[in-house]
Amino acid sequence: MITKTDEVLMEVKDLKKHFNIGKNKVLRAVDGISFTINKGETLGLVGESGCGKSTVGRTLTQLYTPTDGEVIFGEDNVKDIQSKEDQKRFKQRMQMIFQDPYSSLNPRMTVQEIISEGLLIHRPNMSKQERDARVVELLELVGLNQKHAHRYPHEFSGGQRQRVGIARALAVDPQFIVADEPIAALDVSIQAQIVNLLKQLQEEKGLTYLFIAHDLSMVKHISDRIAVMYLGKMVELAESEALYEKPLHPYTEALLSAIPLPDPKLERTRERIILKGDVPSPTDLPTGCRFRTRCPKAMDICAKVEPKWQEVEPGRMVACHLYE
Ligand code: SF4
Repeated sequence: MITKTDEVLMEVKDLKKHFNIGKNKVLRAVDGISFTINKGETLGLVGESGCGKSTVGRTLTQLYTPTDGEVIFGEDNVKDIQSKEDQKRFKQRMQMIFQDPYSSLNPRMTVQEIISEGLLIHRPNMSKQERDARVVELLELVGLNQKHAHRYPHEFSGGQRQRVGIARALAVDPQFIVADEPIAALDVSIQAQIVNLLKQLQEEKGLTYLFIAHDLSMVKHISDRIAVMYLGKMVELAESEALYEKPLHPYTEALLSAIPLPDPKLERTRERIILKGDVPSPTDLPTGCRFRTRCPKAMDICAKVEPKWQEVEPGRMVACHLYE
């Protein structure tokens, strides 16, 4: 069993991903974020829809080319990976699990074919017999079995489809997996099963995860640390427990106050922070702090100066003038 280590697996430095959307407008989906992920760790990445978190996942796994910044994975700087062969080797080490198991599996392919795809690309020397045996091994690993191999995605429940998505991601033995809202489309009763499966696989295989979620409710059950994003920037990053016990950034406070509490008495008496207004457009960002148009604690300086991303306690990063 391998668990979280102190060895850095991925270092991200000032990563940017901008999209040119015409009429001289630039969508700054990811606008300069820096963090590390240790081997065997799960980093939760949380924020409202449109904050850029999925773009982070897709840029890290090379589905998008970064506009600027660096991604260092193990010994490799992604910028230096040029040849097709090196790119293929690199991509095999990182896989994605997608949000919607209904649309991320090709409906015309059997589960056997879906899981075999990555093997055909990355393990071209495998015989058909070896490939079939590997598919069965993967199905069993995710709680399915040989009988499921020849069925089509529509014959499965949502939870089973996500298990197929996980088996597909694991087929080529990746080190790092981006799970992009893997439970958001599932019934609440199934969500915990998928989170538990991901945790179990992480322990067995020493996997490292970036677990993307739109709220803070389920993410605490899987994450060692959690990063909160708002409009293309990280605003807070901390150990999970510390973040839940004492959120520092006003946006984290608001997100936490929106999680329903299991105790009905506490739920009735606790204070909810309702954020005013809508999230501004990432093509027309506010000056200074991006959160200032909705922040209940905004001060004069917040409109003029962008807060720095800085360590305010050991291992705890925040971007807010309240802590400068
Ligand atoms: Fe609120 Fe100002 Fe902190 Fe931004 S910098 S989160 S506006 S207090």
